[in-house]
Amino acid sequence: MGKKIIVAGGGHGGIAAGAMLAENGFDVTVYEAHKREDMGYDWTDIFDRKGLFACGMEMPAEDKYLLKNDMTFINPAMTMRVKQHVPVEELEIQMERKEIYNHIIAHAEECGVKFKYETPVEAPVMLGGRVVGIKTAEGVEYADLVIDAAGINSPVRSQLPKALGIQHKVQEYEQFFVYRGFFNKPCECEGDKFRVYLFFKGRKMICWVADDGEYTDVLIGSFVPIEMDEVNEILGELREYNPDLGTEIVRGGSFANIPVRQPLAVLVADGYAAIGDSAFMTVPVIGSGIANCLKAARVLADTVIADKDGLYNGETLWKYQRGFYKILGNGLAPLASVKLMLTRLNGEELDYIFENEILNADDMTIGADSNSLASMLGGMLEPEALKKKVSGSVKNPVVFRKIVKMVSDIAKVTAATTAMPLKYDRKLVVKWASSYNACFKR
Ligand SMILES: Cc1cc2nc3c(=O)[nH]c(=O)nc-3n(C[C@H](O)[C@H](O)[C@H](O)COP(=O)(O)OP(=O)(O)OC[C@H]3O[C@@H](n4cnc5c(N)ncnc54)[C@H](O)[C@@H]3O)c2cc1C
Repeated sequence: MGKKIIVAGGGHGGIAAGAMLAENGFDVTVYEAHKREDMGYDWTDIFDRKGLFACGMEMPAEDKYLLKNDMTFINPAMTMRVKQHVPVEELEIQMERKEIYNHIIAHAEECGVKFKYETPVEAPVMLGGRVVGIKTAEGVEYADLVIDAAGINSPVRSQLPKALGIQHKVQEYEQFFVYRGFFNKPCECEGDKFRVYLFFKGRKMICWVADDGEYTDVLIGSFVPIEMDEVNEILGELREYNPDLGTEIVRGGSFANIPVRQPLAVLVADGYAAIGDSAFMTVPVIGSGIANCLKAARVLADTVIADKDGLYNGETLWKYQRGFYKILGNGLAPLASVKLMLTRLNGEELDYIFENEILNADDMTIGADSNSLASMLGGMLEPEALKKKVSGSVKNPVVFRKIVKMVSDIAKVTAATTAMPLKYDRKLVVKWASSYNACFKR
C-alpha cells in the first residue's frame, strides 16, 4: 500500500490533487462534511477550462457547459455602461457547481480516491510540530500527509500551532459575504445580459443581475456581513432597473463567503499542505478560485510524487509553495493591493474613475488568463490609453493619491514575493510571512 494521504474537506483542488496521487499509487481518502448529493452550491460558476487540463481531466460533455457572457459594468451614478469584449479563445466556461463536482469526483473515483462523506474534520492531530492526521467524531485518522481543502474557514488551518507561521483567520476586507439566488424571469430584457452594479445606490457592494436563459441570476456581495432584510431591500431596488428580475425565488437563495485577499503566505508545514480557498487562491478582485486550485493541484501532486523519501515535510513541500507562487501567487498578490484600493474609494471617486476613462472597457475585459496584474494591465499600458488615465487621475488629487498609494503597495508586495526564502527554514519562513502579510494592511 502506498503512503497515506488524507484530504481534509472535499474542496476542488484537494480532490484533483488526490486523484493524481491515487493514480500514482498513493492511498488517498477525502473526508467531507456533507453528504455527496449536498456538495456544491445550487448555482452556476464561471471558470477557466485549462484548470481541468492541468490535472489531466477531460472536458465535460458539451451539454454540461456554456461559454460565459461578457459583463457590463455600471458605475454608482449609473451614468456609464462599460462592456467587456473577451476574445472567444479567452472565454471561461459556465457550469452548474454540482456538475463540476460530478465531473471531478467521477474522475477521482476512477483514479482510486476513496471518499468518506458526512464526516466533518474537527482539528489537525499534531505530534512534535508535525501534522500527523485529523480528528473526526469517529476518532483520529493518521496519515503521512494532510492536504487541507476545507475552504475559507478550514478547521485544520485555523488550529495549527502559531509557530508554523500559517495565518488562522481572514481579516477585515479579506472576504466577500455573498447572497446568490435565481429568480423567475417575467420578460426578456433587451441589451446587456450580464449587468454588474458597482457600489449600487451608494452601498459598498457589488451586485449582478444576469440573464441565465431560464432564470435571472442575482448576486449581492459585500465586505461586511449582510442580512436577508437588506438583501430584500436591494432586490426591490434592482427590480426598478431590471424588469427581467422576478419576485419568485427559483433556486439558490443562500449566503456564502469568498476569500478576496492575497494567497496564504505559508502553504506548507511538516505533514501539511493547504490548497484552494483554505489557502486563499482566488483572484482577489473577482473571487474566481476553481481554475486556480486545479492548477495548484498539479504543482502539489508533482511535488509529493517527487519526494521519493516520503518525507512530506516543510523542506520537501516548499517546492509546492514556490511552484504555486511562480505560476499564480506572484501575480495574485499584487491584485490584493488593487482590491484594497477599491475598498478605499467612495462612490463619487469610482464615478470619476469611470467617467474619465481611468478604467475603460479594455481594462474590465477580464478573461480566463487574468490571474495577475500584468495580464490585466494589457491595454492599460498602450501610450494613448495611459495618457488618458494619467491626465484623468492627476486632475483629481484625492483619486490620484489613492492610486499612488496602490502603486506603492504593489511595489512592496512585488519586493516581498521576490524575497520569499529559497528553502524552508521555519524561522526564516515565519519572518518572511510576517513581512509579506504586512504589505496588505488597509
Ligand atoms: C457565491 C460564490 C460564487 C462563486 N463563483 C465562482 C465562480 O464563478 N468561479 C470561480 O472560479 N469561483 C467562484 N467562487 C469561488 C469558488 O467557490 C472557490 O474559490 C473554489 O470552490 C475553491 O474553493 P475550495 O474548493 O477549496 O473550497 P470550497 O468550495 O469551500 O470547498 C470546501 C469543501 O470542504 C468541505 N468542508 C468544509 N469544512 C469541512 C470540515 N470541517 N470537514 C470536512 N469537510 C469540510 C465543504 O463542505 C466543501 O465541500 C464562488 C464562491 C462563492 C461563495
